[in-house]
Amino acid sequence: MPTTTLRKRLVMGNWKMNGSLATNASLLASLRASSHNDDDCEVAVCVPFPYLVQAEQSLRDSAVAFGAQDLSHHDAGAYTGDVSGAMLADLGCSWVLVGHSERRSNHAETDQLVAHKASAALKAKLTPVVCIGETLVEQEAGHTLGVVARQLAPILALGKAAVSGMIIAYEPVWAIGTGRTATPQQAQDVHAAIRASLASVGAGHARIIYGGSVNASNAAQLFSMSDIDGALVGGASLIAEEFLRIVAA
Ligand code: PEP
Repeated sequence: MPTTTLRKRLVMGNWKMNGSLATNASLLASLRASSHNDDDCEVAVCVPFPYLVQAEQSLRDSAVAFGAQDLSHHDAGAYTGDVSGAMLADLGCSWVLVGHSERRSNHAETDQLVAHKASAALKAKLTPVVCIGETLVEQEAGHTLGVVARQLAPILALGKAAVSGMIIAYEPVWAIGTGRTATPQQAQDVHAAIRASLASVGAGHARIIYGGSVNASNAAQLFSMSDIDGALVGGASLIAEEFLRIVAA
């Protein structure tokens, strides 16, 4: 049986540093109104830390889950400004993004730190969505698979049980927020390589989602590829109608 039939799709919004109590209220209400339990697709939004409580209140008992965009790799202590996995779990989060390219580039997060954060998420019973992907320069130099392998190495070193509890998001940096999407075949080729790496530690069944300028027009084609299990959606997740059309796809 093809493994694709066993993997539930995931469409996850990443609001980045956007929103206000007022704008979030209407976005969350629209998501809630359209949410229904679906055996084939999970839906979640990753919101800025200050709005986690609002997300919890607005989405409670709905089919839309929520999470954060980062966490500390430490458990607790003198880490001013940081937020632990336990705190996120305390607020009802089920998900957390780890190693988003904007964290890697703006906060110098290394591959090793990202793996520590993924571990911390699992310890707090959160599902980490580990973001990997190459820059434009790396892509143009033909280094995509090498970069992705390097980023994955410390994740794979965590072992089968850990990797099985994660989602990998392949997000080519050149496609994030640029309106330039990888073609479905380009994305599929990288996802297949990622799946082979995951399979090398016995976690080939873990979900791999694509991110980078996904919108209502290109989602269906991306989702038709055998190793693309869903999407991480930035800009388009801020517009309820657009995000819901991606979910429908
Ligand atoms: C993202 O932020 O993870 C992302 C993929 O953004 P966008 O959809 O806007 O490219």
